[in-house]
Amino acid sequence: MMENVEKRRRGRPRKNPVESSSVQPTATKRGRGRPRKNTSSAPVKNISDLIYETTNVWDSTNFDKEKIFAFSEGYKDFLNKAKTEREFIKESIALAKKKGFVNLDEMGDRKLNPGDKVYRVVKGKMMLLSVIGKKPAQEGTRILGAHVDSPRIDIKQNPLYESTGMAFFKTHYYGGIKKYQWVAIPLALHGVVVKADGTVVEVNIGENENDPVFTITDLLPHLAKDQYEKKLNEAFQGEHMNALLGAIPYGNKDEKDRFKKNILSLLHDNYGIVEEDLISSELELVPAFKARDVGFDRSMIGAYGHDDRVCAYPALMAILETENPEYTAICYLTDKEEIGSVGNTGAESRALENFIADLCALTTEGQYSDRLLRVALERSKMLSADVNAALDPNYEGTHDKMNAGYLNKGIAIMKFSGTRGKSGASDANAEFLGEVRKLFNDNKIPWHITELGAVDKGGGGTIAMMIANLGVDVIDVGVPVLSMHSPFEIASKADIYAVYKGYCAFVK
Ligand code: MN
Ligand code: MN
Repeated sequence: MMENVEKRRRGRPRKNPVESSSVQPTATKRGRGRPRKNTSSAPVKNISDLIYETTNVWDSTNFDKEKIFAFSEGYKDFLNKAKTEREFIKESIALAKKKGFVNLDEMGDRKLNPGDKVYRVVKGKMMLLSVIGKKPAQEGTRILGAHVDSPRIDIKQNPLYESTGMAFFKTHYYGGIKKYQWVAIPLALHGVVVKADGTVVEVNIGENENDPVFTITDLLPHLAKDQYEKKLNEAFQGEHMNALLGAIPYGNKDEKDRFKKNILSLLHDNYGIVEEDLISSELELVPAFKARDVGFDRSMIGAYGHDDRVCAYPALMAILETENPEYTAICYLTDKEEIGSVGNTGAESRALENFIADLCALTTEGQYSDRLLRVALERSKMLSADVNAALDPNYEGTHDKMNAGYLNKGIAIMKFSGTRGKSGASDANAEFLGEVRKLFNDNKIPWHITELGAVDKGGGGTIAMMIANLGVDVIDVGVPVLSMHSPFEIASKADIYAVYKGYCAFVK
């Protein structure tokens, strides 16, 4: 059955263009002719075999608790080193090199052979890794796509000011945050400052135990009468989210702006930068705390940036461990997902097409043409590796329990995203969902079907839609997370390991 689908899909775009425009009758005919699961070979032994049931990963005999915990240790370690997109890519390059991956852009036009491992970095914030398959790239690729940016508090381009004897950075939040969660917590400053002569200064303050941290203050409850009466989305204003930097004055008391000047003096001493250099900077405030085990049983990890490192890390591990795959395997780590996948480091860019074009050119026997790329894309399949909103029993009514993501039920498969009537959704084809379901079942990996939340309760999207637009079969497959987009997101160690096993099976 699966082979038929494969053949049909591979042949569809070129051999028989008429067929794609007559999907409806074809599908109906196929549906009637296809034997149903329990009427074909094996007769039904037990009526309960007909019911869709999910498995708790901790109950699964295929999932060893020690392996689950060991994988989580590696993940926590990585999380602590990679809190920003730039840091994630930097760590990924180091791991890839160790595993024998070579920078595609330093190889010239040397042909690639099955089993070769290559990578490309885009602007230090996006990365593509590939293990060349036994079949040439134009036969289609298997892509794991995740994003490595997370919601955070960015520093404005002209940020420094003083008020009432204190110095502050003005900020502009990045991604969908609930602002009240980001006040009165320790924040670390990560990023780069590009100086007037073009040199790049890396900044990382607040991660070492002995480092100072920064914070955005909140009002004491005693004087919060007016604040309490405001709506949640009005009580915390973006322009009031200013980060506290210091309170020692510079020079004598006649000096003007001496609290601001003291910060500039320290920045100059430590980094050799002047105020104008901050204009060409990307400085991000992120929670200063480390990833921690959560619960008496240590079954969960609480950390900043699970979205989407909890999928990006397993995807990265899966590609790093891939050897001689049938189809060319790709891991696509993108930036800017949290603000709509925009720009030349986001999934809306041409980076994936360019990369696959190069793989086609470097694996084809004949002359490269654009057609090879187009065909490769239409024959490719991708798991959009992104987090899922786990049902939170503290907030009843946000999910349809029959179609919700849950902690510990393993991989969360989400057929479609979007809002209201699936508006703006990426909606995977049933055939591809069937294929993915079969893959996980065959590999005995627990999974469950999910929606982002109850109908009309909100919505969202992932990079799935951008890649689906290229002709690739895409479906969202990831880890359910509690407190998503908060400074301290929660994920189950069992789910993280299940997702890792699922990604491995997909690219194998
Ligand atoms: Mn995400
Ligand atoms: Mn997100």
